[in-house]
Amino acid sequence: MKFYFPDSQDLVSPTYDFINDEYSPYRVRQRDDVYAHQVVTPIPYDGILVSKAVVDGSMNGAGKYSAPQRERFYRLGVKNFFRLPETCSTIGDCGAFNYIDEERPPYEVDEVLDFYGRCGFDAGISIDHIIFGYIPEESDAEPEEAWINRQQISLELAEDFITAAPASGARFEPVGAAQGWGPRSYAHSVQELQKMGYRRIALGGMVPLKSHEILACLRAIDAIRAPGTQLHLLGINRVDSMEQFARHGVTSFDSTSVFRQAFMDDRNNYHTATDSYTAIRVPQVDGNPALKRLILSGSVSQAQAITAERTCLRALREFDHEGTPLEDVLAALETYESLVLGPKKKSYLSYYERTLSDAPWRACPCALCGTHGIEIAIFRGTERNKRRGFHNLTVLEAKMRSLAFN
Ligand SMILES: [Zn+2]
Repeated sequence: MKFYFPDSQDLVSPTYDFINDEYSPYRVRQRDDVYAHQVVTPIPYDGILVSKAVVDGSMNGAGKYSAPQRERFYRLGVKNFFRLPETCSTIGDCGAFNYIDEERPPYEVDEVLDFYGRCGFDAGISIDHIIFGYIPEESDAEPEEAWINRQQISLELAEDFITAAPASGARFEPVGAAQGWGPRSYAHSVQELQKMGYRRIALGGMVPLKSHEILACLRAIDAIRAPGTQLHLLGINRVDSMEQFARHGVTSFDSTSVFRQAFMDDRNNYHTATDSYTAIRVPQVDGNPALKRLILSGSVSQAQAITAERTCLRALREFDHEGTPLEDVLAALETYESLVLGPKKKSYLSYYERTLSDAPWRACPCALCGTHGIEIAIFRGTERNKRRGFHNLTVLEAKMRSLAFN
């Protein structure tokens, strides 16, 4: 089972100064900042997934690349741009989420073939159009006309894609994108793609589905799946179901979810093999919009906020290094939290107490926890938050490696 990490230009600066919270004056972002595969070993994924919409930008401004970055990406190709080791493979897609509201995908087959070929991808997924709707097998509800259209569009583009690929001199593996609204319609897409000649098929639009719904689709696909056909699950990460998925021909998946949970989830920010913890929120006074508003309106004094923020950071570091009593740290956190949250919002203190008593970073074998200690458990700014995301990727990697199908 291979795990691909979708690129969203998530890098960290190795020379970041955590004590003073500042970047090195000598830092050159594009030269010095590093990806997860450059800071943790073993590399926490088998490859990366890069979306054309993310590189090129799209109508709703989803692009993550500046113009010079995009120029470098096209000039260097995907392997050199990401400084990928030989063991890491690459897969390209169009980033269908970015044009989900459009009538048709905004790309032509030729330009997508050119993108995959010119940038040196190992595999490239045909252009597809996401269907957001699910009808269980036992229901006799009718699909919306738009869903049928989107499936038809995806199949036609897949046919054009695999037909035109050889003529374009493409050396990447063509992957057909299957869209559907339930077990039978996914099976229909897979069957059509196999007829076109695809041996690797990516199942799209399954992100909102429950694991048992994904399994129902996989079972329906089993009935028509050719022996050599491999399946990829787009945007799906269900560690608990992966062994079952593998039995139905799934050989790869991609997902940002464990990475994003580090700074998007309300509670499960720091993962371990068997558990997850809430990261300790110590927002920067000048980087927190809610706190800034309170300061501007005069309800909180800026000096008081800065003092509380610094006290928290000092207490947390002393707790980690010198064993300051837990109650003292919690008292500092409570003071700052009451300023940031105001009286009505819910408190995280009981979660922090658990995080601090267990101090899971002390037992973590990853290089980042070893280097940064408690900093990685502090919810504050991109350098800490992304490192915690990278840490979560290492935990996922270890979980995947421990599963029976490996
Ligand atoms: Zn770690």
